[in-house]
Amino acid sequence: MSRRRLIWQFYPFFLAVILAALVVATAYFSYTLREFFLDQIEYELRLAAEMSMPQIAAALSGGDPAEIDALCKKLGAAGDGQLRLTVITVGGKVLGDSDENPAQMKDHSDRAEFIQALRIGYGQSVRLSPTLGKDMMYVAMPIVQGGQPTAIVRTAIPTTEISETMHGVYVNVVWAGVAVALGAAFLSYLISRRIGQPVTQMKGIAQLFAEGQLNIRVPTGGAAELDDLAKALNAMATQLQDRIRTITEQRNELKAVLSSLAEGVLAVDAAGHIVSVNVAAARLLSIDPASAAGRNVEEVIRNVGLQQFVHRTLSSDQPTEGNASFPDEGGRFFHLHGAGLADPQGRRVGAVIVLSDMTRIHRLENLRRDFVANVSHELKTPVTSIQGFVEALREGNLGDPEQTQRYLGIIAKHAERLNSIIDDLLSLSRLEEGTERRAILFETMKLRPVLEAAVDLASVRAEQKQVKVALSCDDDLEAKINAPLLEQAVINLVDNAVKYSDEGSRVDIEVRWQDTFVAIDVRDSGCGIPQEHLTRIFERFYVVDKSRSRKLGGTGLGLAIVKHIASVHGGHVTVSSTPGQGSRFTLRLPGG
Ligand code: ADP
Repeated sequence: MSRRRLIWQFYPFFLAVILAALVVATAYFSYTLREFFLDQIEYELRLAAEMSMPQIAAALSGGDPAEIDALCKKLGAAGDGQLRLTVITVGGKVLGDSDENPAQMKDHSDRAEFIQALRIGYGQSVRLSPTLGKDMMYVAMPIVQGGQPTAIVRTAIPTTEISETMHGVYVNVVWAGVAVALGAAFLSYLISRRIGQPVTQMKGIAQLFAEGQLNIRVPTGGAAELDDLAKALNAMATQLQDRIRTITEQRNELKAVLSSLAEGVLAVDAAGHIVSVNVAAARLLSIDPASAAGRNVEEVIRNVGLQQFVHRTLSSDQPTEGNASFPDEGGRFFHLHGAGLADPQGRRVGAVIVLSDMTRIHRLENLRRDFVANVSHELKTPVTSIQGFVEALREGNLGDPEQTQRYLGIIAKHAERLNSIIDDLLSLSRLEEGTERRAILFETMKLRPVLEAAVDLASVRAEQKQVKVALSCDDDLEAKINAPLLEQAVINLVDNAVKYSDEGSRVDIEVRWQDTFVAIDVRDSGCGIPQEHLTRIFERFYVVDKSRSRKLGGTGLGLAIVKHIASVHGGHVTVSSTPGQGSRFTLRLPGG
């Protein structure tokens, strides 16, 4: 659409209206003026005819045509020489004329004014004089003698003067038209400026609104329409401001919710470009949210499973669900939920993917599975043995008391082992349950009595093997502990130390401060543990030498229990060992 300035919208109309008014006024004025002039001339002609009539009537009575013509010429010359006077017989013959020789003039009975004068006593016409070749006005009146018209007196004056006057008027009207055009232009300019200025100002402010500066307001006042427009613009700005505030608040809320979510949230557009990534997703997928935005999912997330899931969600009308595993860092496992994003018209514009990190649960699940398998396996061996020997006894081997005794001894040993395993499992489960329910109570107390009690309980086996257990602990050493649990941990360590030591050797328990920890060392000079097993001996059911451990009544759960007890105290347990020389287990607990 062509854009015209405001002034050009007004100017042609103004000009047209004013010029039309001028033309109409001029036409009316010139018509009236011409009529006025003609009336004036007619009046003068009539007056001249009437005034000359008595003299002409007298001359007519004389009957000398030459006298009539001379009178005409005299009367014609009396004025300013413009007046023409003609005397015509009722038959149309010219008797005298102020300007011409009547003998040479044609019959005048066909002249309009002549015919009219004879018919109604007064004739008038404006026309070209065939005699003089000029535009003339004629007035004719009859001379009545004895009740009968005897001759017609005709006066005439050229009307060229009127035309000249009218020409002058027209020239002035043209000048007036030019002046009007200029005046209209100036007026249009003033009006367009008066309207345009506030409109331009509003345009500027509307542009600022568009740029987001919604605090300014358009000044109101002035013409009603402009005032209404200004108010409408201001109302629009207020509404926009409110809406933007609401949208910003909602966006911030959403942002806060998204960033506080433990689940990773990933939004992509319809083409698979990343739109946004929350903090959790950035952390889980090890990506930088700022640099990821706008890039393709394939570029940013190097996991085929997740990439395929994103595309599946984009092409599906239903919410999607799936899993993705990342083999890095010992394997991570995600559960995925996806849903399509649609615009207000219902068109698909992208998708949102929610990633739940199931790695821990997955690992726990695996651990649980392994644990159940291990427990079953560990329980199976003694139960199978017991079944076997009970079966043997049933089959009638009871006749041999020595054999029977031997079998019963084996059954008892396996039953004892079952008992130990179940005891240890119960200990572990109690520990876990206590940790979960936060039901384990801690108290700051002196360590020595607790350790002495542990040594006492472990001393039965030690004495059997003639192993000396020595305790070195300051009387006033304190720590925040749960006494029964710590006692059990130390018993397990001392028990192991005695179990895996040679007869007559020695086990040392030494308690000392180490930085902010209290370190409880249990040292033996037994068989030691090969290096490759050191990292795994704290796992449940892990034993270095199965047959040896079993022979010694081990369950493979003792150190797992120690590790758990250390961790519920907020401490930890470590081991160092040299095969053939002995081992040192150190239990560190935070100082009281
Ligand atoms: P177990 O009941 O078999 O002793 P533990 O969990 O207590 O189970 O110990 C795990 C394994 O660690 C044992 O089977 C044993 O091989 C090894 N071990 C533990 N303590 C010692 C130690 N003081 N000297 C040598 N080996 C040890």
